[in-house]
Amino acid sequence: MEFETKKVTCPHCQKQQNIVVYPSINITLNPEIKDDVISASIFTKLCKYCGGSFEIRHPVLYNDMERRFLVYYIPDIDSSRIIDTALEEDYDSLKYVKRRIVPDYDTFREKIHILESGLDDMAIEITKLAVLNVVKKKEDCEIIKGTFSFCYQEKNTIGFEFETSNGPYCQSTRMEVYHKAEYIVRKTAGLDSSMTGFLKIDSNWAENMLHRFKVREEKRRQYLEQEKENTDPIEIALSIDSEIMNEAQTDRSKTNG
Ligand SMILES: [Zn+2]
Repeated sequence: MEFETKKVTCPHCQKQQNIVVYPSINITLNPEIKDDVISASIFTKLCKYCGGSFEIRHPVLYNDMERRFLVYYIPDIDSSRIIDTALEEDYDSLKYVKRRIVPDYDTFREKIHILESGLDDMAIEITKLAVLNVVKKKEDCEIIKGTFSFCYQEKNTIGFEFETSNGPYCQSTRMEVYHKAEYIVRKTAGLDSSMTGFLKIDSNWAENMLHRFKVREEKRRQYLEQEKENTDPIEIALSIDSEIMNEAQTDRSKTNG
């Protein structure tokens, strides 16, 4: 496993020392480290002089080769997309691998959970947003955070945990909601799905995507009304697509600029 040494000062005895950190973890080759990753104990170090323990947070690239995903934990990362040129150049096959960035460790764990379950995290974020709005109305509370909890295909149910202003709350829904979200992703997120680099797929992303979907549906309705004589569905779909793509690119350059 890849490792780096870092010079640190022990917060207990103030003695300087070198410690070993693992910036990149290949879980397919080193499954024995999984528990330490999930519990975050990979960040806990012991001082070799006084024996005191302390924590060193550093970026971690989590690689599941078998299920083809990479989750990059970069503490407090702000951007919605990062491109690791060296990595992209080294591994041409990366384009077949899902790449995500996450700014905090809870999201890191959640992302691994979703992708390990074989679910589409884009559709999960959209589903979460829909469920969150239901909880908000039903409980008349503020939602601080939502996390994917479980998915039982055979029971046709998918569940989320919410941290609300009234305390913790669990809410499940039928799989149809998730399938509808998958449909929205297929119709709307094509551009994002084919992009290089690591993407941040979170509630902001989901909100943006839902907005784009609604605009698209509205445009579609208008087209169908205006062009009743033009009944070629492919032609209509293509003209809507090109408009949406133009808008998406304008949106993106705004966010980046
Ligand atoms: Zn010490």
